[in-house]
Amino acid sequence: MKRLVSKIDSSAPVNPDGNAAALIPSRPTISRLREAASVCKACTLWKNATQTVFGEGSPASRIMFVGEQPGDQEDRAGRPFVGPAGKVFDEALAEVGLDRAQVYVTNVVKHFKWVPAPRGKRRIHKKPRYSEIHACRPWLEAEISAVKPQAVVCLGATAAQALFGKQFSITRHRGQRIDSPLAPFAIATVHPSSILRAQDSESRHQQMRAFVNDLRQVALQTTKNQAA
Ligand code: SF4
Repeated sequence: MKRLVSKIDSSAPVNPDGNAAALIPSRPTISRLREAASVCKACTLWKNATQTVFGEGSPASRIMFVGEQPGDQEDRAGRPFVGPAGKVFDEALAEVGLDRAQVYVTNVVKHFKWVPAPRGKRRIHKKPRYSEIHACRPWLEAEISAVKPQAVVCLGATAAQALFGKQFSITRHRGQRIDSPLAPFAIATVHPSSILRAQDSESRHQQMRAFVNDLRQVALQTTKNQAA
């Protein structure tokens, strides 16, 4: 399998508000990190969000999935991937014989960034800025250090570019194994929300098949690593 070489992207500009590094507790377990992140104000995204949505899953998980940021439902529930995209994600996990209890799911940004819809009360997702991703990065790095996953799977371009470099293209490199210091096996695929945006049911079906194939590769690889 062709591999790409990636380094953690260190070219992020310094956030004038700083980043969350000073908030990382000593001996950071997932529960201590979650508690510390609940009061994070290292960037301004906390102001318009309901709460911090920290990663979730067993600290012994072999696979860590990293998305972009919590959505509307996640913001209200305080849990990642519980909205419509989370349902697509759960379906795909089930198809490859995994469930949420076996994996760790998180986002590169822990607060919901949104703008009001032109009409009505809907909150529309807004892509986080690079400075916000940079500000939030210490939380993700601490999660990876605490869980030490065998596989890191980026869901969507924002997560992949945050972890594998700004030039990373999901279109060109999805499903390809990446040489990364983050985990023995690293890969990127689409965000499940993109499957929900498919034009018609046939295209949705095709995109789901491709997503499941990417996840199957991850499941097989981590089973192999466990057996080795
Ligand atoms: S998005 Fe991240 S860095 Fe910004 S306030 Fe929330 S937890 Fe802190």
